[in-house]
Amino acid sequence: MSTNNTPQATPGTSSLLEVDGLRRHFALSRGRMLRAVDGVSLRIDSGRTLALVGESGSGKSTLGRCVVRMDEPTDGQIRFDGEDITHLRHRDLRTIRQRMQMVFQSPYTSLSPRMSVGASIAEPLQIHGLPDGLSPADRVREVLDMVGLPASVETRRPSQLSGGQRQRIGLARALALSPKLLVADEPTASLDLTSQAQIVNLLLELQGRLSLAMLFITHDLGLAHHLSHECAVMYLGRIVEAGPTVELMRQPLHPYTHLLVSTRS
Ligand code: ADP
Ligand code: MG
Repeated sequence: MSTNNTPQATPGTSSLLEVDGLRRHFALSRGRMLRAVDGVSLRIDSGRTLALVGESGSGKSTLGRCVVRMDEPTDGQIRFDGEDITHLRHRDLRTIRQRMQMVFQSPYTSLSPRMSVGASIAEPLQIHGLPDGLSPADRVREVLDMVGLPASVETRRPSQLSGGQRQRIGLARALALSPKLLVADEPTASLDLTSQAQIVNLLLELQGRLSLAMLFITHDLGLAHHLSHECAVMYLGRIVEAGPTVELMRQPLHPYTHLLVSTRS
């Protein structure tokens, strides 16, 4: 049985994101080593969504954090927008933060409970500046509108909003700098079904409107099916199968993917 385990968006050309042989090992006690990410390669082109699916503990979040360089890989290479970012130092990471953002399962990972919604969204704009002479206040209103929230939420604290609204704010903050790539780590996992559907529909709409590339991390195959063009299945730190989502769901080749697809709710 042959399985293609490198999502090769457009063979022969360079992609927006190119990850090659990525490893992230964690030192455990008594000299033991955990291979959380164990040699992963993937590609994402502009405007495309790659879903990274797999059960809890398979290494998805660790991979996502390495891609946005919140974590440093043990080995391998990450190229983004034509640049090798594998070992960029803290100061230099600022230049990629403008073009690459992450949203998390808990919006509080990026939102401060003590800051107003408007201040939280404006924060990255104050650090990085804005093109076109737009003021941070104007941009805050623009992105709030983009995620379907009224300007009146600006003065609220995150705790005064619903879970779904908070996740929209996290998304607005991530989109404020018009990134080329969004890494979304289970952004709907802690939401009720209605809010989940609203966020998924919003992401679909944004995909169409902005030419945003997305690494969408989820344990939910249904969401992957709905949102992604390509899909990569992660198991014990490795990608065991990857390809166009529709094909992968129709005809899974790897036994683990088969199991995932056959037990899909
Ligand atoms: P997933 O997102 O697929 O649930 P994670 O990337 O969170 O998986 O975790 C993969 C593995 O790496 C798990 O066994 C987890 O316990 C371990 N891990 C993650 N971060 C660390 C860390 N900072 N130190 C040690 N082990 C870690
Ligand atoms: Mg995770």
